[in-house]
Amino acid sequence: MKVEEKIAKNAIKPHAGSHIELDEARCAACETRICIRACPAGLYQVEPATGKVLVDHAGCLECGTCLIVCPDCGVTWKYPEPGHGIRYRHG
Ligand code: SF4
Repeated sequence: MKVEEKIAKNAIKPHAGSHIELDEARCAACETRICIRACPAGLYQVEPATGKVLVDHAGCLECGTCLIVCPDCGVTWKYPEPGHGIRYRHG
């Protein structure tokens, strides 16, 4: 089974607000933008029109990778509200 197939088996209940906040100024100045390559769920992307880094918190696997790899402390991350977030079903 591929990783993408395993991820698709998880249940995610997002809450209204985002549990991931990005520091716009730090993300704009970041040269590596390693979050885009490091997130195993592929939730980070650059908005083509503006070049701004965006994150789609709703599919978050709660692995914390983006928080660890960000070289400029541009990511503020916390667990989703109780009863929300990911429920792993397949490892
Ligand atoms: Fe992606 Fe993991 Fe960060 Fe969630 S915690 S956005 S899955 S790198």
